[in-house]
Amino acid sequence: MAGLYVHIPFCQTRCRYCDFYSTTVLHRREAYVAALLREIGSRKQELTEPIRTIYFGGGTPSQLRAEDIARLIEAIGTETAEEITVEMNPGDADETYLTTLRRAGVNRLSMGVQSMHDERLRLIGRRHTAAQAREAVSMARKAGFENLSLDLIYGLPGQTMAEWQEDVEQLLALKPEHISAYCLQWEEGTALMQMMERGEVEMTDDETEMAMYDWLMERLQEAGYAHYEVSNFARPGFASRHNSSYWDNTPYLGIGAAAHSYDGKIRSSNPADIAQYIRGAAREEEVLTEDDRYNERIMLGLRTARGVARTEIRDGQAVERLIQRGLLREEGTHVVATRQGLHILNSIIETLMI
Ligand code: SF4
Repeated sequence: MAGLYVHIPFCQTRCRYCDFYSTTVLHRREAYVAALLREIGSRKQELTEPIRTIYFGGGTPSQLRAEDIARLIEAIGTETAEEITVEMNPGDADETYLTTLRRAGVNRLSMGVQSMHDERLRLIGRRHTAAQAREAVSMARKAGFENLSLDLIYGLPGQTMAEWQEDVEQLLALKPEHISAYCLQWEEGTALMQMMERGEVEMTDDETEMAMYDWLMERLQEAGYAHYEVSNFARPGFASRHNSSYWDNTPYLGIGAAAHSYDGKIRSSNPADIAQYIRGAAREEEVLTEDDRYNERIMLGLRTARGVARTEIRDGQAVERLIQRGLLREEGTHVVATRQGLHILNSIIETLMI
């Protein structure tokens, strides 16, 4: 089975921490949808396996009209799709919009809530409020969505441990099936980074970020969520099937500007520029060597609760040392990052990559 990703690179406003590829110039949306339909028509047959998941990510997919998302889904075809996700900004939710998505076959929404404190949301440049997030969840339930994923960010400037705990508690009160929680990344060139350089905001120290992550893991486990990937938690049966297929190295087709595709050997990427994409500029291709694929398996596998098969890892002595230091543990035939290991996962991955 395969996955299909559609990138919607439009955002109404720019969040201060974000360095993703997206634009606030919205007048090209119509031409963009036409280009997506063209690409779907010409590339769908590249997938030799049935489409199991469809994921609209961004950017902000909810900046497209719901009817346009419905047209795109129809062009892709939903016969074999088990999970169709649309990422949305809680500020874009209204009953008609959500009902149209649901009727089009969308069965999972992923909402960027990020914080349940309006002051913090304003500081990071989010355009919705906590009240809008609550309302969006309730409207989504009324529209028939039984699979909601809500995102939070920790390590935000000025966010205390007590505020973070309130964020998580208030999110849990909304009873989402899935929660993604990311540590704020300070990216060069973002407005937030410039604010930090001017001394207007401060970075959260590492110890506090680690304590926030530790508390989150404890609390969500106690609330019945499985920690199935470093940043992702789900009630039984609600792990993201789409993202799980990336972590499992399954082939996927990426449609839209800056979208990547992978057929098991070759990774290709569309131009990361809307105008070029609309004009139909060529994709870039990269043939992955056996070493590249090995590195991907290590990188993706160690992010998940399943881990990596021990026999798969080339440097057995390094694994042994990591187990002795309490950073990896054995789970049957696999090795998995321990809670302590999750704090320094990138350096563990680097140690094992070639
Ligand atoms: S909505 Fe998402 S993609 Fe758009 S600016 Fe904000 S964080 Fe970036």
